[in-house]
Amino acid sequence: MDAFELFTASGAKTGIWACGRCRCVHRKKDHADGCCQCIDCKIESRAQHRLRCEPCGKANAEKQNAEQKEKERVAMEKAEIVDGEFGLFYGDKYLREVEDVDGELYPNDIAPEFCFAAKPIRFRKWHVYTLLDSKDEEYGLEDPGEITFEGLEDLRTAFVTFNLVNEGRAMCFTIDYTKKVRTGGPQ
Ligand SMILES: [Zn+2]
Ligand SMILES: [Zn+2]
Repeated sequence: MDAFELFTASGAKTGIWACGRCRCVHRKKDHADGCCQCIDCKIESRAQHRLRCEPCGKANAEKQNAEQKEKERVAMEKAEIVDGEFGLFYGDKYLREVEDVDGELYPNDIAPEFCFAAKPIRFRKWHVYTLLDSKDEEYGLEDPGEITFEGLEDLRTAFVTFNLVNEGRAMCFTIDYTKKVRTGGPQ
């Protein structure tokens, strides 16, 4: 915003621009113009680390919210009715049983006819190398070869057992937008 060009000490143009608001330097005038400027209205300034001014930010959030709601409404209409063996989601809250919806309702609220069903996220096998990789990152080691742990074979065997007993286990649940559970309305 309020971009200005930089000059050399002798007064020659440099073709380098700066933002008049935050004084950051940019290679192109366009970028200096856009710096600190709301990407929507291109009038108001935006706070650092934000793309939009406050009113545009609010409008954008409302728009996204409305789009998400509409997407969910369409998905709900198309969703297949299931009995909810993995539970269900009331809004973004996971519930184990259909009966739990009652506990989420405010007085005078009526249960929605349907809620989205939950689907499990299954346990994926763990491996020794995932553990070692995370250690590499933690200690900033470039070459995994730098680690010379004892007992890796034992650890590997333990992982095999661990993976076996936890195979297919549900770790957590997420919304299944293709399935719905009847929670209220005409039975
Ligand atoms: Zn700026
Ligand atoms: Zn704006």
